[in-house]
Amino acid sequence: MEDLILNVKNLRKVYGYHTEQEFEALHNINFQVKKGEFICIMGPSGSGKSTFINNISTIDLPTSGLVYINGVEVRTMSANEIGRFRYKNLGFIFQEFNLLDTHTMYENIAMPLSLAKLKSNEIKERIHNIASQMNIEHLLKKYPYECSGGQRQRAAICRALINNPKIIIADEPTGNLDSVNSSELLKILQTLNKEEGVTIIMVSHDPLIASYSSRLIYIKDGNIEQKLEKKDLTQEEYFQKIVEINSLESKEILSQ
Ligand code: ADP
Repeated sequence: MEDLILNVKNLRKVYGYHTEQEFEALHNINFQVKKGEFICIMGPSGSGKSTFINNISTIDLPTSGLVYINGVEVRTMSANEIGRFRYKNLGFIFQEFNLLDTHTMYENIAMPLSLAKLKSNEIKERIHNIASQMNIEHLLKKYPYECSGGQRQRAAICRALINNPKIIIADEPTGNLDSVNSSELLKILQTLNKEEGVTIIMVSHDPLIASYSSRLIYIKDGNIEQKLEKKDLTQEEYFQKIVEINSLESKEILSQ
C-alpha cells in the first residue's frame, strides 16, 4: 500500500464526548486516497464534510480510529510535531481565502515558510516563482483588500503551494468566487494535479466544480453514502452522474 497518501481506518468523531450534548458526527469511516488523486467530497449541509476534512488533515483529532498521512499516523506525533508535519505535508485553501489584511500579499504567501528555516533569498525566489505562475507577481506589495477576489484566491493558492505540499486540502475553494474565477481556479487545481501529481481533497456542494475531480464521495449523516469514479467518463458524463447522485439524495431527504 505504498502509494497511499491517506489511509483512514474506522474514523469516529464525537463532539461533546461524555457530556449530555454528545453527538457522533462521523461513524466508523474507512477511506483511502492514492498519490495523485483528485477527490471531491459532497453531501448536504451538516452531514459531516468539514468534520471529516478537519480530521483527515490534522486540524482536529478523531475520537477513535487511525489517520495515516503519507504513512505517518497522526496520533503518534506530539502537538509540536503535528504542527511541523502539517506545514511540511499539507496546503490549505479555504472559501474565505483566510489572508491577513494587515500583511502584504508577499507576507501572506510567505507565512507557511516561517517554520521552514530557509534563507531570505530562497524565500524571495520561491515566492516570486509561484506568484508569477499564478499571475500575481505584480501584486506582491499590495494588501489583500486592494486585490480582487480571484487575485486573493490565487494568493491563497500560492500560500498553499509554497511548501510543495503532498496534499492540498480545499474546503469550498470557489465559494466566494464568480463563475469565471471559479473555473480558472479549478483549471489551476487540475493542472497541479495532472502535471505535478499533487493530491487534492476538495469539499464542494456544486456538481460542476465536483466534475473536475477524479473521484467523488458523498457523505450523509456521518457516513460515506455514495462513491463515484470518473475513470473513462468525459467530464460531462461524470457531471451528469454527480447531478444524479445529488438529486437522488435530495429526493430522499424531501421524502423523509
Ligand atoms: P458539514 O460540513 O457537512 O456542513 P459539519 O462537519 O460542519 O457538517 O457538521 C456535522 C455535524 O456535527 C452537524 O450536526 C454539526 O452541528 C455538528 N458539529 C460540527 N461541529 C461541532 C462542534 N464543534 N460541536 C458540536 N457539534 C458540532
